[in-house]
Amino acid sequence: MVWMRVALCVLLLGLGSACGTDPDGKETRPHVLLVLVDTLRFDRVGAYGADRPTTPNIDLVANSGVRFERAYSPAPWTKPAAASILTGLYPSTHGATSVPARISDEATTLAEILSAEGYATLGVVSGSNVSSVYGFDRGFDHWDESQIRGGEAFTSLQVTDRALAFAREAIRSGRPFFLFVHYFDPHYIYRHHPKVGFSPERAGRLDGSEGIHELRRIGRDASAEEIEFLRARYDEEIRVTDATFGRLMEGLEALGVAQQNLILVITADHGEEILERGWLGHTRTLYEELLRVPLIVRAPGRVRPGHVVAQPVSTVALTPTILDWLGLEAPDDSLQAESLAALAAGGQEDPDAQVLGEVDFETGGPAQTVRNAFKKALIGARFKLIRDDPTGRYELYDLRADPKEQRDLAADEPARVRALVPVLEQRLARIRGPEGPVRSVELDEEQREALRRLGYLGED
Ligand SMILES: [Zn+2]
Repeated sequence: MVWMRVALCVLLLGLGSACGTDPDGKETRPHVLLVLVDTLRFDRVGAYGADRPTTPNIDLVANSGVRFERAYSPAPWTKPAAASILTGLYPSTHGATSVPARISDEATTLAEILSAEGYATLGVVSGSNVSSVYGFDRGFDHWDESQIRGGEAFTSLQVTDRALAFAREAIRSGRPFFLFVHYFDPHYIYRHHPKVGFSPERAGRLDGSEGIHELRRIGRDASAEEIEFLRARYDEEIRVTDATFGRLMEGLEALGVAQQNLILVITADHGEEILERGWLGHTRTLYEELLRVPLIVRAPGRVRPGHVVAQPVSTVALTPTILDWLGLEAPDDSLQAESLAALAAGGQEDPDAQVLGEVDFETGGPAQTVRNAFKKALIGARFKLIRDDPTGRYELYDLRADPKEQRDLAADEPARVRALVPVLEQRLARIRGPEGPVRSVELDEEQREALRRLGYLGED
């Protein structure tokens, strides 16, 4: 297949040249760094209004880059969400939606496209749901998943070191790199970082040694002090992850990667539910605390520094956006979101923009279930429609008046529901996957036990 390079150096809205030059005046293609922080709730990031200093390093990027105020993951858990970022396809189409499912062979990954364009493609991941087992290594020349350690060890430092080692090799070989870095630490288990010191040693019945299923039991009648304890522990994990992200940026600078020659994207696969609805974790719903994620980009010469985009956007758009910034075209018209490049450059927003959320969380085995969930959502500037597939029941929320989705308006506003349902149906019809069985893998008992400890399997 031939990938056409449309233009290497793009002049965008008079913002300046989009490509750098080396000391000999030869054009150089920018490096691309995609940082995916697992389970990072948008509202726990400083730039999105967190009430603790959780993310000073990410905030620095937000100040000099572009922040998408309302970025949505297409799914509330790791595998489908991460696969969408790396393919530009919604979960229904790439197929990696259930616990045993793999990314469809028909999906082309961003790494495959960039590899064909001569990029050194480098991936370092630290969570089992982003592993080669499910096809995430496709298109990567170098892939490191040695730090998949189930949340029981702090891995961001090692992930950073491995990422820098990969980058060093690529630079030595004279190739631009696409570096995908996945940090897992904010994901449960929330380990204590006394040096950060957001949380006490214990609160009520909790001291941090509880397993997730025990926390979920306690969570049914948790006190305000216990809930705050869990939030503070989670924030500590975010703070240490942010510190290692800062180290990654310093390391790249030390390797001679100039800011002017680096396209940087920071986002998350999903948020986290910390007892807002009596439960802890993710996978079960499509509410804002799970679907909304931080999305911060820096692309020198291509975006308007300091700009904030208000309209809802999906992280499905990241693959087309990165290709657009590089002046590359997608191989075919299969990508399911428009590039965000114009928005990031300060372009006109669309007041009618809508994005989709979906979950088909199925554990693939009897008596293994955290509750399965099958839902779809249509999210607009103001209203959000959620359909529960098994019951056909709809919920409607006014996100402007009720951002925490406490008041379901479906019964009060049937006309609005009736108007939105066909829009949802039309959008879903466009993302339907290929007919035939979804590709699955057979998980062994060790893999299942690891998923149980992380709260994906086991008791509800
Ligand atoms: Zn995740």
